[in-house]
Amino acid sequence: MAKMKGLAMLGFDKIGWIEKDIPEIGPLDALCRPLAISPCTSDVHTVWEHAIGDRHDLILGHEASAEVVEVGPLVKDFKPGDKVIIPAITPDWQAVESQMGYSQHSNGMLNGWKFSNIKDGVFAEYFHVNEADGNLAHLPKGINIQDAVMLSDMVPTGFHGANMAEVEYGDTVVVVGIGPVGLMAVAGSVLRGAGRVFGVGSRQNCQDAAKYYGATDTINYKDGDIVEQIKEAMNGKPVDKVILAGGELDTFDQAVRLVRPGGIVANINYLGSGDFIKIPRVEWGLGMGHIRIIGGLMPGGRKNMEYLARVIENGRLDVSPLLTHRFEKLDDLEEALLLMKDKPRDLIKPVVTIG
Ligand code: NDP
Ligand code: ZN
Repeated sequence: MAKMKGLAMLGFDKIGWIEKDIPEIGPLDALCRPLAISPCTSDVHTVWEHAIGDRHDLILGHEASAEVVEVGPLVKDFKPGDKVIIPAITPDWQAVESQMGYSQHSNGMLNGWKFSNIKDGVFAEYFHVNEADGNLAHLPKGINIQDAVMLSDMVPTGFHGANMAEVEYGDTVVVVGIGPVGLMAVAGSVLRGAGRVFGVGSRQNCQDAAKYYGATDTINYKDGDIVEQIKEAMNGKPVDKVILAGGELDTFDQAVRLVRPGGIVANINYLGSGDFIKIPRVEWGLGMGHIRIIGGLMPGGRKNMEYLARVIENGRLDVSPLLTHRFEKLDDLEEALLLMKDKPRDLIKPVVTIG
């Protein structure tokens, strides 16, 4: 059987290049080769925080644009040579959970997250995509292969945060964490009509990017309690919504302290460690404050990719400022992933072009 190489989690805290068989595809599936790829903070949680348990020789990565190499006999809308957007989440569309509106959890909690979780990911010469007609999207001509990678995960996750927070015209929104995910939550909130938007993060480049994407205020959590800083800026008034795209377990406590009765705390942060989240009793209205707390994995699949691509294609969103570090070949992936782990101050997101 023909072989390929991929960058894998070898075990806890260990990554390395391995050789594997090129995946076989079923009748509904596709085999793809990446055109551009990006590592994710989630890969870092998985390898170095042991967030989903041990994995041996699991190829990492879930963000890519790609070319279709082969399709199964029942695939209708894609053929070899097509350029496509790959969603990080590729649900089983026939599952009951998908019919309930939670395709992310098709056939089990988080089971729509397949790449780099329950099967080999995209950090390889080839990768397998289940249910190609439901999970691939054609790459529009107006979007380049590097920007397209931001459609895999950063845009849908950030926008999902804004959707879960049900951001409305004029809302005051706090986005805690302004790495690439939080920046897209800022952009999504602005597109949904937010009035005032606070972006919380310490790095200057991310604060500048938050302003670029429409944040009206930036807060450095290293300068003191963010609740106090934001309350001061708000003259003691609560905010409408908080989106968590960074921080720790205690950040939920801060978020609940910030929102008004009836407000929403929407988490998109991958909680890589710790056991329980604490909710402050009094600020949660003694349990009766109508403050909703929700957390969700991004929705994947074709429709979501096609619709979000339209936002970029028509000039409503420019993702290129996210791509601060650019690499030119597959072999550079390891360096790109380590950058994501170490987060130098000038980094937002690395992208590796394979072409
Ligand atoms: P980054 O690490 O790039 O960004 C994290 C942000 O949180 C930074 O702005 C950082 O500030 C800030 N931060 C760190 N600690 C605190 C704190 N104590 N209080 C407030 N802010 C803090 O991550 P990404 O943007 O790449 O990803 C964000 C999260 O989203 C990750 O956990 C990732 O795994 C998750 N994710 C979730 C998905 C989903 O479907 N729900 C999908 C993809 C990713 P600074 O660095 O400036 O100091
Ligand atoms: Zn991710």
